[in-house]
Amino acid sequence: MKTIFEKGALGQHLTLLPECDVPEIHLANERTSPLHLPHVSENELTRHYKQLSDRVHGVNDGFYPLGSCTMKYNPKIDEAAAAQPGFTGVHPLQDADTVQGSLEVLYTVQKDLCAVTGMDAVSLQPAAGAHGEFTGLLLIKAYHTHRGDLARKKIIVPDSAHGTNPASARMAGFDVVNIPSGSDGCVDLDALQAAVGPDTAGLMLTNPNTVGIFDKNILKITEIVHAAGGLCYYDGANLNAVVGVVRPGDMGFDVCHLNLHKTFATPHGGGGPGSGPVGCKAALAPYLPGPVAEEKHGKFKFAVPPRSIGRVRSFAGNFGVIVRALAYLMTLGQEQLPQVAENAVLNANYMMARLAKTYHMAYNGPCMHEFVMTLEQLHKDTGVSAMDIAKGLLDNGIHPPTMYFPLIVHEALMIEPTETESKETMDAVCTVLETLYETARTNPQALHDAPLHTPVRRLDEVGAARNPILRYINK
Ligand SMILES: *Cc1c(COP(=O)(O)O)cnc(C)c1O
Repeated sequence: MKTIFEKGALGQHLTLLPECDVPEIHLANERTSPLHLPHVSENELTRHYKQLSDRVHGVNDGFYPLGSCTMKYNPKIDEAAAAQPGFTGVHPLQDADTVQGSLEVLYTVQKDLCAVTGMDAVSLQPAAGAHGEFTGLLLIKAYHTHRGDLARKKIIVPDSAHGTNPASARMAGFDVVNIPSGSDGCVDLDALQAAVGPDTAGLMLTNPNTVGIFDKNILKITEIVHAAGGLCYYDGANLNAVVGVVRPGDMGFDVCHLNLHKTFATPHGGGGPGSGPVGCKAALAPYLPGPVAEEKHGKFKFAVPPRSIGRVRSFAGNFGVIVRALAYLMTLGQEQLPQVAENAVLNANYMMARLAKTYHMAYNGPCMHEFVMTLEQLHKDTGVSAMDIAKGLLDNGIHPPTMYFPLIVHEALMIEPTETESKETMDAVCTVLETLYETARTNPQALHDAPLHTPVRRLDEVGAARNPILRYINK
């Protein structure tokens, strides 16, 4: 497909508006060369973007079980709320008196997220999950530093952790200590006990973990870390499995982040705006990045916590994403929020139980909001890999699951159906997966050749990673 710059011809443009018939005012420092813009009619422009959108797969196109990413349907009422001119038209430098409504939105979401996480304070600044992790780790660092406990330089991360966890810990200046999981997918308590000590700054964990299992020893885990003087960080990127049911604060965690763009109604994928609010217990609240919204006698204002680590983002965060989260929380209410988690877990277990009759599961059920299959045996027997099955799914209009993750499972496919899929859709997807399994046994070549019906066939992924072309070259 051509880029928009390669389409059209000189002179083509939007013709709706009349010629300028008022005197032109020239500014100082005007550009001397014309702006490099595409020359297309409005019609061509519309077609171009429609064609582009036809070539991608989103939740609006079909099943999208990207484990650990929670690609769920986001109610359009939340989009409508965020699109209101009262929200889109405000300027971040406006005087607080003129934007009381927007400040109230921030304040209310801070409070609601405290209630959801069991934390005492929340900052809405971080712009993504990994950004939230980085921020939360800086809080841990500031806490130890302020107490003069400078030996705590290590963050413990289990081997099943999301890849961003060790990366964020390193970015925040910590050394990363990896501990192995047991064969049940949970943290090995002996390994944890052996790893903690006076140099432990904290532990980073997600629960349910990235293999979809809720660690039954969670209270023991946080206790071991606290007894050694460390703090506990909860990666709450996918709260879908527990939202409204279990709270990180009650599991013994001191800091956590949430991904509003996974659980709380902002569509994601493709690098759109996200939000990774950080919540913490009272002892860490003085270090939160500012500004945070505060209320006094019904008036709202921005404030900076007394020992704040400083800003981690401009202004007050990704405001539109925060408005969507508020709309989502308000439409569900505290009463209906648990149903999100209950249905997400039910759906995952429904698919897992049916597929376990055909595929090999990496861990025995029941699972939480996602489950991991291992295609290691199928690969050995037939030569068909997890990648081949994923390409076969594409030909059936289904987005592949997360693959080759977590790293501790070979030939992994991680499926997260989410609470917004119907039984009929899940049944249809299971049938496709069962058929592909049969094809792997009878005609493996067909899967090596897949996909046949997508806009592009197999891509040179190694080439794309080794020699990426990151800049548009206008020939
Ligand atoms: C998605 C995810 C993250 C990272 O979130 P981003 O917004 O992509 O930075 C971190 N941890 C877990 C468990 C996740 O699923």
